[in-house]
Amino acid sequence: MRQDAYDVVVIGGGAAGLSGALVLARSRRSVLVVDGGEPRNAPAAHMHNVLGFDGRPPAELLAAGRAEIAGYGAEFVTATAVSAARDDSGFTVRFEDGRSVRGKRLLVTTGLVDELPDIEGLAGRWGRDVAHCPYCHGYELRDKRIGVLVSSPLAFHAAQMWRQLSPHVLFLLNGGEAPAGDQALELAARGMPVVAERVTSVQVTDDRITGVRLADGNVVALEAIAVGPRFVARSAVLESLGLKAVDFEMNGNVLGSHIPSEPNGATTVPGVWVAGNVTNLGATVAVAAAAAQTTGAMINLDLIAEETREAVAAYRHRVSTMFSEDAWEERYRGRDAIWSGNPNPQLVTEVTALDGRAGRALDVGSGEGADAVWLAKRGWQVTAVDISTVALGRAAGHAAEAGVVDAITFSHTDLRAEAPAERSYDLVSAQFMHLPPEARQELWARLAAAVAPGGTLLIVGHHPSDLATTVGRMHFPDMLFTPDEIAETLDEDSWTVLTAEARPRPHTDPDGRTITIHDTVLVARRR
Ligand SMILES: Cc1cc2nc3c(=O)[nH]c(=O)nc-3n(C[C@H](O)[C@H](O)[C@H](O)COP(=O)(O)OP(=O)(O)OC[C@H]3O[C@@H](n4cnc5c(N)ncnc54)[C@H](O)[C@@H]3O)c2cc1C
Repeated sequence: MRQDAYDVVVIGGGAAGLSGALVLARSRRSVLVVDGGEPRNAPAAHMHNVLGFDGRPPAELLAAGRAEIAGYGAEFVTATAVSAARDDSGFTVRFEDGRSVRGKRLLVTTGLVDELPDIEGLAGRWGRDVAHCPYCHGYELRDKRIGVLVSSPLAFHAAQMWRQLSPHVLFLLNGGEAPAGDQALELAARGMPVVAERVTSVQVTDDRITGVRLADGNVVALEAIAVGPRFVARSAVLESLGLKAVDFEMNGNVLGSHIPSEPNGATTVPGVWVAGNVTNLGATVAVAAAAAQTTGAMINLDLIAEETREAVAAYRHRVSTMFSEDAWEERYRGRDAIWSGNPNPQLVTEVTALDGRAGRALDVGSGEGADAVWLAKRGWQVTAVDISTVALGRAAGHAAEAGVVDAITFSHTDLRAEAPAERSYDLVSAQFMHLPPEARQELWARLAAAVAPGGTLLIVGHHPSDLATTVGRMHFPDMLFTPDEIAETLDEDSWTVLTAEARPRPHTDPDGRTITIHDTVLVARRR
């Protein structure tokens, strides 16, 4: 068992628990199934009404299920959970043997216990020729002499069902109240004799029921007994979490106790889910498995919702801190150089076309100075602005090496807080300044305002179409922008948009493949 929390700890590895584990493990959830090894139908040699497994031993289905979930990485431990406690980050489940395990969610599928009437010899035949469910064992007991023992409010209803399977059904009142009115009539009409005396023991010969002995000493010859147990949910772990077992009623009759839940398996304790017999006393194998499949899917959705909430909070935090001065300083300090030292290719293309018009240039986010040095070498008087002093220091060093230090003014400024001088530059260049949508729109407005009449605004960035490539820009998709997004911010009366395009260029992706990516290129001239 792992030390950190599983996504889901499933308590109870019967049909419900394994089915829930299957859907969760296939959803790539880490799952631990804790099972005490006492599935309810273990006393039965064969299982019925389970499509594809009809007539096979119950243990075969569970073994197949365990192998299937293991194939998807789910883990299985034989242990009995005794309690669970909830805290801020999930649950701690404690086992009888002293071990414990953590889970973000709990799926509790502990089933129920069948409490049989206290009649000598009855429990020993349970699941063989003492049965409760006509759908599970009825066909196998067809045409036998079946005594329907009145032990549950549904005994009369059960007698009618057993009569469908055998013409030899006796109604064993076991000392209870005699049927009257329509019930008496219906029993008589369908040929079901009523035996009034209390049943004291079950007679067995050669490992087969031969009858029941009554309190008056008489023996009624029988081959099988149908009995309605009291169904008691195995609720200890759930009760330790504050969930109370309550009466389970059907048509006004109390059949036992269960843990109530929503149809999707949610309980009133957030993060605790239930499925199978622990919540639905009437669930058969297939019904328990189907319910748990729904519940497993709901748990997966619940985890997805939580993970999305956490991702949004983390994303917001990253976005609010990653463009801060501290973040940039740290980034630059982390490496000797973070950029290539070459001028940005779209700057080179666009400014080469402006040769002969060199004037004052504002290099926005100048970084380690490659663009500023290149511009200065072509005759521009450059103001290189950056939020990082480390970057500006490196840029100054490169300018000195290139002998253009006099042509560049270095300015330590956060342009989001402090606007550049208006109508002062013949070229304003922002290369790959990626900000959240609102922040970049504000920045573009300031940059546009800084362009002198006749001057050029050049904004270049990664185009959103790159998200469809393998270049790997998926971490901040809303930071990418189109040329139209910039063009729409420019007043048509003051600006001529010369270029607004997604310009292709070759690139090597993280796997070493050469791919085509696109740069957003916006070139506009102030009239
Ligand atoms: C005799 C008999 C025959 C039946 N025959 C059929 C049939 O032919 N067809 C059919 O569809 N249905 C049949 N049923 C009904 C069938 O048993 C249930 O529908 C089915 O078992 C419900 O599945 P479950 O997963 O909810 O509970 P279970 O199968 O009972 O599984 C619960 C599991 O949880 C474990 N557990 C309980 N508490 C803890 C704990 N604290 N810590 C760890 N593990 C725990 C148990 O050991 C068990 O393995 C029969 C029932 C009986 C009694």
